[in-house]
Amino acid sequence: MDAFDDLFAANAEFARTFRGSDLTGRAARGLAVVTCMDSRIDPLGLLGLQPGDAKILRNAGARVTDDVLRTLVLAVYLLGVERVLVMPHTDCGMTKATDADVHQLTRDQGVDTRSLEFHMVPDQTEALVHDLTRITSSPFLPAGMPVVGAVYDVKTGRLIPLG
Ligand SMILES: [Zn+2]
Repeated sequence: MDAFDDLFAANAEFARTFRGSDLTGRAARGLAVVTCMDSRIDPLGLLGLQPGDAKILRNAGARVTDDVLRTLVLAVYLLGVERVLVMPHTDCGMTKATDADVHQLTRDQGVDTRSLEFHMVPDQTEALVHDLTRITSSPFLPAGMPVVGAVYDVKTGRLIPLG
């Protein structure tokens, strides 16, 4: 547990002044954001959101995987989501290697990852268009639901809509 002592100590302080919450699990602003796990991204902060406002789905590269689609279906039909922002970012590690590169890197460390698909991003715009299409063409999601892609610039804080 020592490895997590800092977190439980911080939480004790957080809870000490926590005022409770009337929020439900529904997305108050009707929004889902698909973004990367990159530690430089503060999805709520950069979008002017508060806890309770949006569903935040994160993975390596902000990819619309089968699990993201599954989660969006639940978010839309059960949790109040009516619009989706897919938000990859500049300087993403996922754009700097291929799946084959990653398999080699892990293999060099004694792990065979070839049964995993990493969904690396050789071309960020192409990947974003592909991922937006996965959402807009899904038979499980409402036709015409607003879906947008935009790239977050980790150096400037600006969000740049897909051109
Ligand atoms: Zn990233």
